[in-house]
Amino acid sequence: MNKALILVVEDDVPVRNLITTTLRTHNYKYIIARNGETAVMEAASHNPDIVLLDLGLPDIDGVEVIRRIRSWSYMPIIVISARSEDADKIEALDSGADDYLTKPFSVEEMLARLRVTQRRLAVLSDSRGDSSFVNGRLRIDYAAGCAFLGDEELHLTPIEYKLLCLMSQNVGKVLTHTYITQKIWGSSRENDIASLCVFMATLRRKLESEPDSPQYIQTHIGVGYRMMKV
Ligand code: CA
Repeated sequence: MNKALILVVEDDVPVRNLITTTLRTHNYKYIIARNGETAVMEAASHNPDIVLLDLGLPDIDGVEVIRRIRSWSYMPIIVISARSEDADKIEALDSGADDYLTKPFSVEEMLARLRVTQRRLAVLSDSRGDSSFVNGRLRIDYAAGCAFLGDEELHLTPIEYKLLCLMSQNVGKVLTHTYITQKIWGSSRENDIASLCVFMATLRRKLESEPDSPQYIQTHIGVGYRMMKV
């Protein structure tokens, strides 16, 4: 039985009805907000498990809603946007959103994103304070500074290891190129993003049994990468 509480922020009535009907059918609890100010208030008073947030709202912009919620909470936020441009997704993700759906979306897709986020929450609460991370055959021993695939130790360069740790600490979350390069190199110039693609390719060759259809790290073209909970 699924008891997660979802805050649905959407001003468009047909879309909101589609979302709430789907949530109800799948045993999610939900509260709704029709604008950004109400969304921030409801997030603060109900502390929902996940926020589904439309970016184009009648009062304040969805990105502003993310910024305000992020000033006091890490609650997962999945952006739902009609804006298909990468720049909007990237701005929302860099402001602290966890994931995004582009309208029109299927309810199956929405449910899948909710499950990814719930798995991420479960991993985070299981591993709180842990010095190691386990995902499928991958195990990272943060204290010892090494990673294993099954019984085999992965021979990673310092940057590949840093990259793997960063992805693992944000499992289930889409990280933008800018976010990753800032964390790894402290800057995000064109060169850094090009280097990131190279390091990601070498990391995948060591991590993935089929680097062309990766199981652990997904590519979001033009946006960034996400480690999946396998
Ligand atoms: Ca809207």
